[in-house]
Amino acid sequence: MFQDIINPARFTEIIGQVRMCSDADVDEILEQAHAAFKTWSRTTPEERASRLREAARDLRRALSELATLFVRENGKPLREAEVDIRRSIELMDIVSSDLPEWSKPAILDPHQPVFARRRPRGVTAVISPWNSPVLLSFKRLVPAIATGNTVVVKPASHCPLTLTECVRLVNRFLPAGVLNVVTGSGGTVGEKLASDDRVRAVAFTGSTDTGRRIIELASRTVKKLFMELGGNDPALVLQDAILNQETLPKLTNAILRAAGQVCIAIKRIYVHESRYDELVEKLSNSFDQVIVGDGLARETTMGPLNNKAQFDFVAGLVDKCKKSGLTVLTKGRKLDPGGWHQGFFMLPAIILGAGEDHEIVQCEQFGPVVPIMAFSDDEDAVARANNSPYGLRASVWTRSRDRAQELADRLEAGAVFWNSHGIFQDLHIEFPGIKQSGFSRDSRSAALDHYADTYGFGQ
Ligand code: NAP
Repeated sequence: MFQDIINPARFTEIIGQVRMCSDADVDEILEQAHAAFKTWSRTTPEERASRLREAARDLRRALSELATLFVRENGKPLREAEVDIRRSIELMDIVSSDLPEWSKPAILDPHQPVFARRRPRGVTAVISPWNSPVLLSFKRLVPAIATGNTVVVKPASHCPLTLTECVRLVNRFLPAGVLNVVTGSGGTVGEKLASDDRVRAVAFTGSTDTGRRIIELASRTVKKLFMELGGNDPALVLQDAILNQETLPKLTNAILRAAGQVCIAIKRIYVHESRYDELVEKLSNSFDQVIVGDGLARETTMGPLNNKAQFDFVAGLVDKCKKSGLTVLTKGRKLDPGGWHQGFFMLPAIILGAGEDHEIVQCEQFGPVVPIMAFSDDEDAVARANNSPYGLRASVWTRSRDRAQELADRLEAGAVFWNSHGIFQDLHIEFPGIKQSGFSRDSRSAALDHYADTYGFGQ
């Protein structure tokens, strides 16, 4: 059985088809991955690094076509798509250069000949979401392969084509069976990967509900888990915040990048009551500059939502806000008003008047819509920011680094940013979410550590 993949900016355009694999198909692929592990796990780190480096060179040559395909199946603007692919390739180079040094056995104590050595674990399943499928798969599969594991990757059904093509290109440099793709539904393919005894580790990125289900299935065979889940990131705009040409674009981008379909997007804003009117006005003006259209058009600054389920969910939330008497400030401009209903396009919006219990504040909207709420003092702001089952990222917008640091100590998030949000300047430094946002660290050596078992050797 095959499923059509349509362009979210143009429903009439079918970009490709994806095979909906059965249990038996997954079984066959797992057998290949399991068999390939026997030889791949014995290759040297230098050989693995060299193959990854060559594959990275090849991918770099295909970057432009890959990014275009990505926009056509995902919807995000071309420059955002290029960043995702470029970072995936950079990651291959970084891992390849870190690998030889990382692989050296560590002596634990110079007075005792006991070494901490590492070895790969086996078949690793990588299950990824549709919002950033290539980058979020490569962040898991590259260190897994580099440390000598074999991998079966399951792309999201809404956005599988670019990832499948990237894997095809990388596979020109790897022995058969080391890196495998299996497409199909989460309920069939994903659940089989999370349950099968031959899978020794699962690296999952996606919603908290699905993560919970995978943890449950994987617990039956005690697999090692990597979990990066949902978020509802707060931004705290303090009394002394700088709201100018430098900070407003950063704030806007942290809300609207990829039409808000980013796990680490700002999803609620708490602003000091003395700056509420000013922030609403300035952010409204900033949202008004947004041009919504096909991600391949040069003028577009925000693309469509990726799929019907997500579009209906976010549109439904906005509707509920209107029905419950909240103010919805719809902003931005349509690039092609004639083709508006031929894509999952949505104008960005600011929601005013929401109480803490309102769905728009409590849920992960994953769309170009943000509620702004006023707070009176720091206690109030911190308590409301922490009033969420999630704990991915948070940010504090203030002149004072000390105040930001003081609040950061009290905010329940895997990372807290000062006058920025989401990504550190060094793109490869990352921290895991906390609470129900997950628990796995994946930058540099932490990623390599995650995919290998450490064992002791000595007397
Ligand atoms: P999702 O519905 O949880 O799906 C993610 C992946 O899991 C897809 O490949 C999906 O397959 C698969 N899946 C679904 N049900 C499954 C099951 N029962 N067993 C095994 N696998 C299953 O998430 P999404 O809608 O694609 O992505 C959006 C979510 O991901 C948001 O919550 C966002 O915050 C989160 N996310 C988190 C991070 C992070 O780093 N923390 C990064 C990006 C996104 P199908 O596509 O076939 O359903």
